[in-house]
Amino acid sequence: MALVFRDTTIITGDPARTILYNAALAVEGDRITAVGPSTEIMARYPQAEIFDGRGKALFPGLINCHAHMTATLHRGITEDTAFPSRLRFPVEIRSLLSDEETAIMATLAAIECIRTGNTTVLEIGSELIRYAAPLVQSGLRLFLAESANDGETAPGWRPGEPVHRFSPRLREEGLARMQHLLETWHGKEGGRIRCMPAATHTEANSPQMLQQVRALAERYDTGYTIHLGQSPLEVETMVRTRGVRPALYLFHHDFLGPRLIAGHCRYLDPAEISVLGTTRSCVSHQPAMAARRAVIPPIPALQAAGCTIAMGTDNNTQDMVQVLRIGLMLDRILRADPVFPQPEDVLEWTTQGGARVLALQDQIGSLEVGKKADLFVLDTRRPHLVPTMRIVSGFVHNGHPADIEAVMVDGRFLMRDRRVLTVDEAEIIARADEIGRRTWQRLRERYPGVPFPFTLAPL
Ligand SMILES: [Zn+2]
Repeated sequence: MALVFRDTTIITGDPARTILYNAALAVEGDRITAVGPSTEIMARYPQAEIFDGRGKALFPGLINCHAHMTATLHRGITEDTAFPSRLRFPVEIRSLLSDEETAIMATLAAIECIRTGNTTVLEIGSELIRYAAPLVQSGLRLFLAESANDGETAPGWRPGEPVHRFSPRLREEGLARMQHLLETWHGKEGGRIRCMPAATHTEANSPQMLQQVRALAERYDTGYTIHLGQSPLEVETMVRTRGVRPALYLFHHDFLGPRLIAGHCRYLDPAEISVLGTTRSCVSHQPAMAARRAVIPPIPALQAAGCTIAMGTDNNTQDMVQVLRIGLMLDRILRADPVFPQPEDVLEWTTQGGARVLALQDQIGSLEVGKKADLFVLDTRRPHLVPTMRIVSGFVHNGHPADIEAVMVDGRFLMRDRRVLTVDEAEIIARADEIGRRTWQRLRERYPGVPFPFTLAPL
């Protein structure tokens, strides 16, 4: 049966940035089948289920192009320890989690995705097969990127530091994991789930690994990703050990191009910006995490050079509402321009930009007939959102995730009346809190000599 959102405001996100008032949007199956004046659409769908859209606005679902969903485990800690982290534990804390605990921490992130209006998420992780199934269960549109490197590292290695040597064994194992994930999940759930390979970092991957990751992506006609220009330490290590800056290393080994989603791109020189642009590489910009790391990436220059820009969250939080706001503010500060970007610009980067980067621009990113019904419903009758003359600006500057009352992916509600429908939210929150607190306690007890600058609440 069709569903019609009636008498509402529709932020179409089409190329003309059309906003429709007193409008309706019809959904049949997983697609948007009509958009237009309420009276007209209601007459076309007399039998439809009705969603009363008065006092609400429909937005295209937000597209998060860089997430690490199990890193919910780090909340309240690594936001405040710099990158690479100044915490020097010899193991990564996530290695202490069982498969079930890993899945719970990732599911917690999926709930946050839904509550903050993400409808599509590019999740980058190692051994993703351990928690892919519960993420699929959440109903989100997912790009699962299995991440690996062939650099051998010592215990306690941090991104940006040099590796000992490149290992053919690690390379084969990593590529096998990527292939296994692709074979298991790519194209499943009617195409809602897609996969791609990921090289972890520039400093930890050999030219052979880069070539094979790209070849794998081409074989499956999908994208691929890497962390690039994340820290001054990475740049220094690459110059010292490989003789070139990180983006030029990727360029020399034929890793750049329109399928690549280069994450972060914080520390780039003009030559690196130029090769990223001329190769039409894509960039995912994580403004909230960049701000926490005290850096503003050169996004305007990358855009001007020819890169397609998308936005993402990175670690610890999946809150795309803060990504919109911090993205706008960082860009204005960098440009020293109080009127550019406008809220409509950053909304476009998180919707159509993400869709283009994921090569799904004909499917998602705007509310137009024929596209997937991926959207969120904003309750505009909120003290911080009225008056609502310019609701995109109101939401980007002042909106809260709690203003989002419904989320739909593929024509299916994942949340309605602020209730998440696909996951037992209360259960996951309780378990995740217990797992997080206990695991940090275990890590500290195991390594009492490692300096830890925070006092934690008792168990
Ligand atoms: Zn990352």
